[in-house]
Amino acid sequence: MTDRSSISELAALADRIRACRLCVESPRGPALPHQPRPVLRASMTARLLVASQAPGTKVHATGLSFNDASGDRLRQWMGLTRDVFYDESRVAIIPMGFCFPGHGAAKSDLPPRRECRETWHDDLFRLLPQLDCILAIGRYAQDYHFARLGRPLPKGARLDDVVRRWKDFGGQGSGEQGPRLIALPHPSWRNSGWIKRNPWFEADVLPMVRAEVARAIGG
Ligand code: SF4
Repeated sequence: MTDRSSISELAALADRIRACRLCVESPRGPALPHQPRPVLRASMTARLLVASQAPGTKVHATGLSFNDASGDRLRQWMGLTRDVFYDESRVAIIPMGFCFPGHGAAKSDLPPRRECRETWHDDLFRLLPQLDCILAIGRYAQDYHFARLGRPLPKGARLDDVVRRWKDFGGQGSGEQGPRLIALPHPSWRNSGWIKRNPWFEADVLPMVRAEVARAIGG
């Protein structure tokens, strides 16, 4: 699948995504309150995918995925330096919404725009069959990727359960069964309380995450 035509197809699709203005020109609800700036990183060689939620303000301003405090924490969780994390040939970073969605009433980020998933994601992931390990960050990415890979999460499944018992939810595919699918909470500092209340996350889940990341990137 890494033939020339597939590589050009991926490049052409990524160009179309980066030029997308759907959420200001024909939104499915209130228009995006700023100009779109789609942010994603994808290649046909990356076997590891960071499947995230949507850019925040700093990522929107710089155009670089996870270029913020959440990214620092995520890299620490994964055991990766910035250099390796941003090596697009080894690590893909694809959020559920490519543009910063704006702030809600409580100053928290709005959910990822649904126009994005409805328009782009299925086509994009059809072009990335080599993915071998997916870190699904937050519920939007978890719902989409578990369902896309034929392992839909039960309605009402709690984040704690999906993160802790990812194998029971069908996460441990590999080879013919499809990629590993590991659920993570968002690395935002807003989730520090959740991490403190769930010490098994740092003790049991993070060592496994680092091992799976190292396996997927071949290091
Ligand atoms: S959020 Fe997605 S669908 Fe909306 S403008 Fe950005 S790239 Fe297009």
